[in-house]
Amino acid sequence: MAQYGFLGLGIMGNAMAANLVRAGFPVTVWNRNPAKCAPLVALGARQGGTPREVAAACDITFAMLADPAAAAEVCFGPEGVLAGIGAGRGYIDMSTVDDTTARTIAEAVAGRGGRFLEAPVSGTKKPAEEGTLVILAAGDRGLYDEAAPALDKMGKKRFYLGTVGQGARMKLVINSIMGGMMTAFCEGMALGTKGGLDGGQILEALDAGALANPLFRGKGPMLLQGEFPASFPLKHMQKDLRLAVALGDELGQPLQCIAAVNETFKRARAAGHGDADFAAVFQAIRQ
Ligand code: NAP
Repeated sequence: MAQYGFLGLGIMGNAMAANLVRAGFPVTVWNRNPAKCAPLVALGARQGGTPREVAAACDITFAMLADPAAAAEVCFGPEGVLAGIGAGRGYIDMSTVDDTTARTIAEAVAGRGGRFLEAPVSGTKKPAEEGTLVILAAGDRGLYDEAAPALDKMGKKRFYLGTVGQGARMKLVINSIMGGMMTAFCEGMALGTKGGLDGGQILEALDAGALANPLFRGKGPMLLQGEFPASFPLKHMQKDLRLAVALGDELGQPLQCIAAVNETFKRARAAGHGDADFAAVFQAIRQ
């Protein structure tokens, strides 16, 4: 049976790695803050000392890291994946990064004889726990096929999108639309409640019509209660909007709405809501 590694045990990585362990796969985990390995070790995972050690010991190593800087550090650092990956070994980075970061990592891994797949995901903490993420993969087709049994424990649907970079682009397209939806939702809720409408009735009316969707249904209660425990941290949404705006620059695609949404999220982050759920953008909008 293939040996799997998993690097990065934050909100998403913890749940995704747990699904691999529960499925009975041999999994070696690593996290920068090693305390986060303990729940996985209790489930039956082995704890690795460094990304280098994990990549050297495992057939396929997955990563789920905060942002491009974290993805680069875990790959290129002195004890990083690149120092350990050998001929034929696979590296699958599931973090949300930009296409250039994904391609830089892919080329470096290939330069060491390894194989690379990017596989960012759509879906948040609960789908990660339930193994119902949507996986947006691109890169080495053989690795994609070989990793299918593990990917199918983490996701309910997966796409193979071609060359490395296309997975990152698909993910940024999805999240920039989601950031826009959330901002319009929060502005509408702020407008309605300031205008004397009942927030619960606004949600009910939205849900009864053509605008019914799981995002508003899932996040609406947070807006009413004013509590925002993080499923998807606001700082990561702002990072995705920043990367989408940069992609728009690169491709010459004007993004008036998404650029404005990015500014709103920057304001929310500056106001101290970065570690809260991205629905906390409501707090900044309402002020
Ligand atoms: P998170 O809870 O903030 O976890 C981030 C992980 O990255 C942690 O394991 C953290 O390690 C690690 N990390 C950060 N900087 C690092 C560095 N310089 N070196 C090594 N490790 C580093 O984030 P998350 O919500 O799990 O998200 C992870 C990725 O998935 C992000 O790219 C995010 O955009 C994407 N994503 C998230 C969601 C969601 O709903 N949460 C959904 C889809 C995609 P420490 O524990 O040591 O800090």
